[in-house]
Amino acid sequence: MAVEALSGVLSAGNIVFDILVRPVERIAWNTTTWVDSIERHMGGNGASTCYALGKLGVPVRLIGMVGRDAFGDELLARLASAGVDLGAVSRSRGPTATTVALVNSQGDRFLLHRFGASAEAFTEPVEFSPALREGLSHFHLANAFALPQLRRQAAEVLRRARAASLTTSVDTGWDAQGRWLEDVGPCLPHTDLLFANQDEACRLSGLEDPGAAARRLRQLGAASVVLKLGGGGCAVFTAEAELRVPAFEVQAVDTTGAGDCFVGAFLAALHRGRSYEEAARFANAVAALSIQHLGGTAGLRSYEETLAWMERARVRA
Ligand code: ADP
Repeated sequence: MAVEALSGVLSAGNIVFDILVRPVERIAWNTTTWVDSIERHMGGNGASTCYALGKLGVPVRLIGMVGRDAFGDELLARLASAGVDLGAVSRSRGPTATTVALVNSQGDRFLLHRFGASAEAFTEPVEFSPALREGLSHFHLANAFALPQLRRQAAEVLRRARAASLTTSVDTGWDAQGRWLEDVGPCLPHTDLLFANQDEACRLSGLEDPGAAARRLRQLGAASVVLKLGGGGCAVFTAEAELRVPAFEVQAVDTTGAGDCFVGAFLAALHRGRSYEEAARFANAVAALSIQHLGGTAGLRSYEETLAWMERARVRA
């Protein structure tokens, strides 16, 4: 089904406290490295996508889990500041999921991740009660690979979302366990919009060409596929058309979280009644704003400010 003029988004996903340390060129045990900056940021695909949605003026409710610790408090305050409804975020006794990222001067990263509360979240498939979905017409699953319990139930969760008359989208994320289509395949027939970057699409389909990969994922059941193509912008594959939308010409500082901002922005444009092509252009713009700053969501602006920026910005040749 085409996702049109969605009224608001219910999203399930991870919520992660990110600590970025840079620059770190080399890791040597039993030594001290002096660094320029150690920063705290909000990370996690669920948190970042919902933050982008809220910031862009879309009613959004996040389902997830953080610890009852200071990291959890800080993340929830940040999400609330963007207007994200946190009524379905629970708090665990375990610590909030945390990533420490060591970043070198080229922007390469060495990541250390603690699942913490993410490992406890979603022991049962989501029940789409009328209260949970009130005012919202779309369900977005933000990277089930990052949530060990949700991953097993992802297809059932999407099936239930559809049965509750919600349209659905999935952002696959990177599968560190390497199971790929084994877990995502059953989700595809319940997915209206599948988002993946080009490496993920190729891994999922087992094909080398991203376009062929997107077509294969459609054949396997996804109604439409949106490929995120880094500096190449994005491409949209639907039953009616295939289109390529170039990226904006910007200086990339940090691409972490760009994909989540892209997805939030794509859905935000659909909320405003835009076509998939317009949504793709808008999503490229929001992602371009994101990558010019350290941390995924620091560069985001309101919907109207983003439109104004697009009028001035240059698109890549
Ligand atoms: P993910 O973050 O999910 O791996 P990408 O790396 O493809 O996905 O980035 C998401 C989006 O961010 C792209 O579709 C594009 O719009 C934007 N983007 C990423 N890198 C650049 C870049 N160097 N210049 C302009 N836009 C970019």
